[in-house]
Amino acid sequence: MKTIGLLGGMSWESTLTYYKLLNLGVKQKLGGLHSAKIVLYSVDFEEIELLQREGRWDEAGEILAKNVRSLELAGADFILICTNTMHKVIDIIQKNIKTPIIHIAEATAFYMQKEGYKKAILLGTRFSMQENFIKGVLEKNNIQVVTPNSEEICEIDRIIFSELVLGKISPQSKQIYLSIIDKIYQREKQIDSVILGCTEIGLLLQKEDTFLKIFDTTVLHVNKALDLAI
Ligand code: GLU
Repeated sequence: MKTIGLLGGMSWESTLTYYKLLNLGVKQKLGGLHSAKIVLYSVDFEEIELLQREGRWDEAGEILAKNVRSLELAGADFILICTNTMHKVIDIIQKNIKTPIIHIAEATAFYMQKEGYKKAILLGTRFSMQENFIKGVLEKNNIQVVTPNSEEICEIDRIIFSELVLGKISPQSKQIYLSIIDKIYQREKQIDSVILGCTEIGLLLQKEDTFLKIFDTTVLHVNKALDLAI
């Protein structure tokens, strides 16, 4: 079994999900007392979020680059950055290490293609919905991406940063997400799925909540890691 490096803490609420799903996955695949070989570097999210908010992405990237170096030295065979948003600086993070980083959007596109889904609503932070570092990778893999309008982006992003990353799961916020999904579905044609493009959204929305197929980037990132590790 290979050793999985996790760059986590963004937020730790979703890093918990990675840790749990990786261990459950290894248990399911290998049985017995098997569990995942993991090295984790968990950052202080307050520091990273401040740099995001102030647009100091290169500085955030340099901090994470140093942290993944520790994962490499600790023996990680490959690395997962446990947040969609910080894939914005994946090139800075990857540049000083040889250990491969498994891109969260590549993993997502891989499973979407495998199941034949083609046109998805992307939910995530304002950065992930407005910029190209997640969308572009999905589109390069032939997934059409529909993003919410600017008012909806504000609402989705507000709920991520003021609730989900703090572990606050509210029924009202779930309704807001579901009604945004519904509105986008009504105004766009041929949508077949929703991408939970923020690693905490899976804490709020489950697959039973909507008739559209849900692709949770956290789960798919984990699945890819399990395939590579075993
Ligand atoms: N975990 C989130 C994501 O997947 C948001 C936290 C962050 O800004 O890194 O994008």
